[in-house]
Amino acid sequence: MASLMKFIADVMLGRLAKRMRLLGFDVLYDRTIDDNDIIRLSLEQDRVILTRDTGLAARPMADNHLFITSDDVRAQMQQILAVFPPDMLPRPLTRCSECNEPLVAISRKKVKDLVPAHVYEKHETFLQCMICKRVYWMGTHVGRMGLGETNKKKPGSLNRSGP
Ligand SMILES: [Zn+2]
Repeated sequence: MASLMKFIADVMLGRLAKRMRLLGFDVLYDRTIDDNDIIRLSLEQDRVILTRDTGLAARPMADNHLFITSDDVRAQMQQILAVFPPDMLPRPLTRCSECNEPLVAISRKKVKDLVPAHVYEKHETFLQCMICKRVYWMGTHVGRMGLGETNKKKPGSLNRSGP
């Protein structure tokens, strides 16, 4: 089951890691770790290595990897979805795109001061990351996988992201 699969992304794939997390994938990403750490964590935690690095991909200990062929994050996401088809996807919006932490439902009243007014008016369901306190909601443009997130440090700011 793809939903139970876990991943670790190399240093070049930070944007892909965030997008995958928004779709619910468990993706470890840390720009401070090196190839040896990536291989060790992959083996210890049974994570598939996502890499753009042919050197890393060629290492025998990194056998459990998916080589990402494009520099473009949209093409990268398409490659992921081709290997892990949509019917195998975990639930979207279950994981923080920054921290990889599972999101927790938060009452609508509590987010009033944390999200833009028009978002508050239009949406019923909100989720929050307990680590960084970002608030997430399901956007209205389902066709474009509209997901919203806002950073508590910048109330009122709205970042749209999606494939
Ligand atoms: Zn977070």
